[in-house]
Amino acid sequence: MKITALAVSMRWLPTIAVVVLLTLLTQIGGVVWLVAVGLARRCKTGACGYLALFLGIYAAGSALGYTVAPIFGRVSLPCFDDGTSRLKMQSPFFCVLNRQYVVPELKEAALALSRHMDQAFPGTTTLALDANFPFFSGFPLFPHLSHSDGRKLDVAFFYQNADGSYLDETTRSPIGYFAFEQPRPDSILPCRDREDLLTLRWDLDFLQSLWPPLPLEESRTGEALRWLSGEGSSFGIEKIFVEPHLAQRLGVQAESIRFQGCRAARHDDHLHMQVGK
Ligand SMILES: [Zn+2]
Repeated sequence: MKITALAVSMRWLPTIAVVVLLTLLTQIGGVVWLVAVGLARRCKTGACGYLALFLGIYAAGSALGYTVAPIFGRVSLPCFDDGTSRLKMQSPFFCVLNRQYVVPELKEAALALSRHMDQAFPGTTTLALDANFPFFSGFPLFPHLSHSDGRKLDVAFFYQNADGSYLDETTRSPIGYFAFEQPRPDSILPCRDREDLLTLRWDLDFLQSLWPPLPLEESRTGEALRWLSGEGSSFGIEKIFVEPHLAQRLGVQAESIRFQGCRAARHDDHLHMQVGK
């Protein structure tokens, strides 16, 4: 009897794993998966029918999220070039995963940053990375545990060619994350020699050689940091996370530029900005 119960629960393990993964990645994907499984069983569709059901319900759920997000106090950042600003998501894939939602004041701040960057360096697009999900405060956007209230947004660094020419809308890694700027020998390193077991501070050394060796465009990245910690405060920007060695290298210091701690993700592959309540 016990063996039968164990066999049944083992049978559900893959489903539970898929539901958890889809929920962590997209918020609605796990529920959509379960609804699609239920409908597919009732209608006795094959694998293709199931896939079509899943994609159809997921698309409808995402459209619903876009429409009702304002009820939850969130708005979508631009998924594409919409011709109205120089801000957009680094890839439409972030929007496919429902990870582009922020509170209206954070959208205003991000738009103002992009306007400033384009004024200071004409032809510059500011690329947004992970923001928040459309529904519910307190639902974290994995692996960013603090991105749970619509008030946090990550922004991509700016890059250049080896010959020093700026590359617009370009990031080193395909998703804008995990291409770490390595500290220089004389850098400030608050996490040196720590070996935490429970940590989101992943070095991902095995990935680093896969990225193209594009140098950081320090003028633009430093200017974004300077604006966020200066004029950005009038748009409600309260905190910016960046690794201390990078703030040091870019020559920017401010009360609002903070270190996220040694157990949180590294912030030398992107900037994190957040608005206060
Ligand atoms: Zn962040």
